[in-house]
Amino acid sequence: MIRYNVDERQQPIRDAVREFAEKEIVPVAQELDRRPEPQAFPHDYYKKLADQGYIGFPMPKEYGGQGRSSIEYTTLCEELSYWDAPSNLLSAVAVLALEPIAMYASEEQKKKYIPKAISGEILPAFALTEPNAGSDAANQSTVAKVDGDDYLITGEKIFIMHGDVADTFVVFGKMEDSEARGKISAWIVEDNGNGSIRKETLKYKMGMKAATTGRLWFDNVRVPKENLLGEPNKGFRYAMGTLDSARIGVAAQGVGIAQRALDESIEYAKNRQAFGAPIAKLQAIQWMIADMQVRVEAARGLTYRSAVKKDAGEKYSLDASMAKLYATEIARFCVDRAMQIHAGYGYIGEFSVIEKLYRDQRIMEIYEGTSEVQRLVIANTLLR
Ligand SMILES: Cc1cc2nc3c(=O)[nH]c(=O)nc-3n(C[C@H](O)[C@H](O)[C@H](O)COP(=O)(O)OP(=O)(O)OC[C@H]3O[C@@H](n4cnc5c(N)ncnc54)[C@H](O)[C@@H]3O)c2cc1C
Repeated sequence: MIRYNVDERQQPIRDAVREFAEKEIVPVAQELDRRPEPQAFPHDYYKKLADQGYIGFPMPKEYGGQGRSSIEYTTLCEELSYWDAPSNLLSAVAVLALEPIAMYASEEQKKKYIPKAISGEILPAFALTEPNAGSDAANQSTVAKVDGDDYLITGEKIFIMHGDVADTFVVFGKMEDSEARGKISAWIVEDNGNGSIRKETLKYKMGMKAATTGRLWFDNVRVPKENLLGEPNKGFRYAMGTLDSARIGVAAQGVGIAQRALDESIEYAKNRQAFGAPIAKLQAIQWMIADMQVRVEAARGLTYRSAVKKDAGEKYSLDASMAKLYATEIARFCVDRAMQIHAGYGYIGEFSVIEKLYRDQRIMEIYEGTSEVQRLVIANTLLR
């Protein structure tokens, strides 16, 4: 079915992703999901996404990107997630790490890191979360000491997408003399291979398995002073600004996976026979389909509304939170209804994609701020 588009640039992106997906994503998605633990990072597959332009899609043209608008990038996220949400995550992780550089870094830093990351020459990661700083991201324990012309960074990060294999990190932490809560800073940290950064792949992740997740230990990692990102003590603002933007992308993941669950359900309901007729003739099934359709379209509306506002230069933080909250929660509703409609053939992965959709969806309500944190942002905005 033709999707609702807010402007004419979207349909060509949807068509191009479909073409790419049929050739490159669909044949390997199940296989990438089922690699033995600990799952290795799919370097060759990632390079294909980079070569297709999907890493640099929203990055400025002067740094080798395609300079696409938020509406266009959101469309890319939605469509990739329709075909295989982990494939979207692989590219979205790079965008998440590059956005603070594109938004807040110096000209030299932008030129040094963005083009190489877009081409796949370097692999970036966004390292904010710590064992005691998840939703409470300001509670950073990572510390930077000044040592001559360098910083020495020590700390631990957890749940960092691609953190197990990345070579370039946007790392958040505090200056050793910064006592005030929330006064955090950000650095671009390169792994020079001298062993001061230790990495581990986290095992037995529920879904989104093509993209790996890591734990990291920084032990007096030497970082030149010029690798401070932006100004000292402004890191929390940079992190939150980055997450506002990334939340539109996660909302799009929700819309994509929800639409896939719906389309699979429609197809299945028309073909599966019970009591001498397709189950699509049963009102119980029809109502599930109708409920999914309404939610998918409402989520799509909220998601593109935030992208439109972002492109217009308006404040969009509230919109991004509403979209992320709603789209990821209705995605859970839709994968669950799809499972019910497919019943046994949904639960067993060898018969359909529903079991994978069910697992891939769940993280969307957790990363880039949990649903509870989105409710907090929404309520705080309204009540201030
Ligand atoms: C697969 C995966 C990938 C990730 N990728 C990255 C990444 O690339 N980079 C990165 O930096 N981080 C990443 N994260 C971290 C992710 O953003 C955090 O897991 C998330 O923000 C929640 O933090 P937490 O898990 O510590 O939960 P906690 O913050 O401990 O939350 C526990 C529970 O308490 C609730 N809660 C906490 N505070 C409040 C509050 N004030 N009001 C109401 N409820 C509250 C939460 O909603 C949740 O239900 C990733 C996580 C996962 C699992």
